[in-house]
This record gives sequence, structure tokens and C-alpha cells, in this order.
Amino acid sequence: MSEKKVRHVLGLSGGKDSTALALYMKKKHPELEIEYFFSDTGAELEEVYEYLHELEKIIGPIHRLEADSNFDDLLKIHGNFLPSVRQRWCTVQMKLKPFERFVGNDPVINYVGIRADEAHYREGYKDGKPNIEVIFPFIEDGLTKNDVKNILDASGIGLPKYYQWRSRSGCYFCFFQQKGEWVGLLDRHPELYEKAAQYEKVNEATGERYTWMQGTSLEEFKSQADKYRQAKAKDKDKHLSWQEQLKQQADANAFDDDDDLWDRGCTICHL
Ligand code: SF4
Repeated sequence: MSEKKVRHVLGLSGGKDSTALALYMKKKHPELEIEYFFSDTGAELEEVYEYLHELEKIIGPIHRLEADSNFDDLLKIHGNFLPSVRQRWCTVQMKLKPFERFVGNDPVINYVGIRADEAHYREGYKDGKPNIEVIFPFIEDGLTKNDVKNILDASGIGLPKYYQWRSRSGCYFCFFQQKGEWVGLLDRHPELYEKAAQYEKVNEATGERYTWMQGTSLEEFKSQADKYRQAKAKDKDKHLSWQEQLKQQADANAFDDDDDLWDRGCTICHL
């Protein structure tokens, strides 16, 4: 019996590193038939879809993977407990399982875009099925933040727009977000902020609150939003045009990786 052909796969999150890796691999290894995929949670920002659409014009089609159930149904299955840093059922159900289904039992090489200058504890898909081998081309080739920036600039795709107010890809309600990013969501996508707020609940019997942020509901947090807006406004360089300020902000968000909370997120969601 002939051995099964090895498949080469590369997951895109809609973030800068996975995008840069796709562009890098396409150029460095044109002979490989890489299958690009994106695990769509149904709770992605429209900026992510726009960016993937632009990327497809360069690298070709990206497979959209979907979970068995949508987030609302999964929430019910999980007893209405919102996912959290400790209970990350969302990643398992909406990202990892669709990925495992996509690769099946085929021998697979999975390329992951962790950079050589990055904390190595974000280790991509690991501890998973034995048929999946994980390769880190940026680490192997010594590519760092600047290389990623150069790859994105040279391709003409640049950064996705959400980096103007957020530092990682992922669901609009992602609990890994910092407070300033929730303010960004409130300002840029007020309808999504409200939608996220509606998922928060109080258990009438016990008084226990289920909120995305620890200790504060999104409704309560609205009153603190001005404090974060003022801090941002203070940081702005008044000599720059607003377009330059947005670009500066996007670069800072995209290339500032000193964010412990986000770093505890997983690569399949946020790279
Ligand atoms: S982006 Fe955040 S909320 Fe969405 S699946 Fe990943 S960890 Fe969960």
C-alpha cells in the first residue's frame, strides 16, 4: 500500500505574524502546495475578513473552517459559563477541533509563525495528534519583528486595520483584551460591544457575576472609558497628521509584544 502524501498546512488568524509567514513560505517554497486555513468563530471582526480577502489575492484561496455549533449554542452546552483565561473552551471548540477535523489522520506539516524574538512559550499546536508535525520557519530562519514588518510592507498588504485600536486578532469579545482595547471596541464597533455586554449575566441565586473582564461588567466599564481615551490622546504626537497618528498607533499595537495577558492566548487565535 502506498504511503499517504504529506500535507502542508498553515493557519491564518488574521494577524500579522501568520500573514507574514504565509507570504514568506509562498516566496521561499513555491514548490510546496500549502493549504492555508482560517478557523472562523463567527465572532471575528469585519477587518479580519477584509484582510484575509486581500491576502487571498496574493496567496490564493484560504479554507474557512467552522465549528460544529455556533458560539451561542456552545455557550448553552457549557452551562452559560463564559469562556475565560482558565476555561478556554472557545479555543478548543471553535479553533482546535475544526483544525483537527480539517487535517484528519493525514500526515501533516503545520507551519506556525512564532518569531525568533518571541517568547517561546506560545508554542502553537502541540500535544495534539501524532500525525501533525509543527514547524516554526521564523524561528529556524531567525526572523524577528522587523522582518515581519518588511514582509508585510513589501507585499503591499501592510497591517490589518484593527491594529489601530487592538493588538491581536481574535473574537470581538475575547477575554484576553486589555481595557484600552475594550474602549477601542466601544468606539469602533459599538454594536459589538453591546452584543458582548449582553452575554454577561448575574446568577440571581448566588449573586455571582459572569463578565468578560474580571470584576467589571462592560456596562459598568463604559463610565471608565473616558479615562483611557484621555490617556491615549495624551500620548499622541500633535505634529503628525491623523493618518500618521493612526499608522503610528497601529505599528505600536502590532509590534508591541510585551503583553503578558495576550501572550497567554494561543497562536491559533492571535498570531
Ligand atoms: S480569540 Fe479569544 S474568545 Fe475567540 S476563541 Fe480565541 S481565546 Fe476564545
